[in-house]
Amino acid sequence: MNLILLGPPGAGKGTQAKKMIDALQIPQISTGDILRAAVKDGTEMGLEAKKYMDAGKLVPDSVVIGIIDDRLKEEDCVKGFILDGFPRTVEQAASLGEMLEKGGRSIDHVVSIDVPDADLMARLTGRWMCTCGASFHKLFNPSKVDGICDLCGAKLYQRDDDKEAAIKVRLENYHKQTAPLIDFYSTRGLLRGVPGTGAPDEIYAAIMAVLNG
Ligand code: AMP
Repeated sequence: MNLILLGPPGAGKGTQAKKMIDALQIPQISTGDILRAAVKDGTEMGLEAKKYMDAGKLVPDSVVIGIIDDRLKEEDCVKGFILDGFPRTVEQAASLGEMLEKGGRSIDHVVSIDVPDADLMARLTGRWMCTCGASFHKLFNPSKVDGICDLCGAKLYQRDDDKEAAIKVRLENYHKQTAPLIDFYSTRGLLRGVPGTGAPDEIYAAIMAVLNG
């Protein structure tokens, strides 16, 4: 199954993708995670991308399209994949369509997780992450010990772009650059809308229902 998770920053795409990989036995491909790893490793691409990411701006299409083109050729994507955070522009969506077509593949479902803007700022400013992939929220999902990961015991950190100024830019850019993808995939008959408010398990159940429906 070849899937895209679409939604604004803070919609819970990463949280849902992590739940889906076990059930579907296909990998999560997060361009945000790949870019953050490149920043941490100090690669040339990482250093270039960091300038955009810290400001809440999108990294240039050519960079992320190249990342996805390479990643989708890997062995573990043969049975399918969950794209989390890609595509984010119409140009990226068009390139994705071309690269899949070349390999005789196509997208099966685009799951759009809908969350009102008013909820997103509170979700993002309270978010604390762990390098093991876990994420917590100071109000909605606090760790047992403040600042420490429940799963691996490491110190939690806040993403640089989860600061208020960067969040504002990310939300504006989402509406300008990414929201047009809702129409793009709707006209192609691929869009499956799911309400993104409520408990993560309820949202997960709604996603699995549209995939199986
Ligand atoms: P995310 O973890 O998906 O919220 O992504 C974090 C940041 O990485 C974004 O704010 C962008 O700066 C960059 N990024 C991730 N995915 C993309 C993409 N598909 N296109 C452009 N920039 C991206």
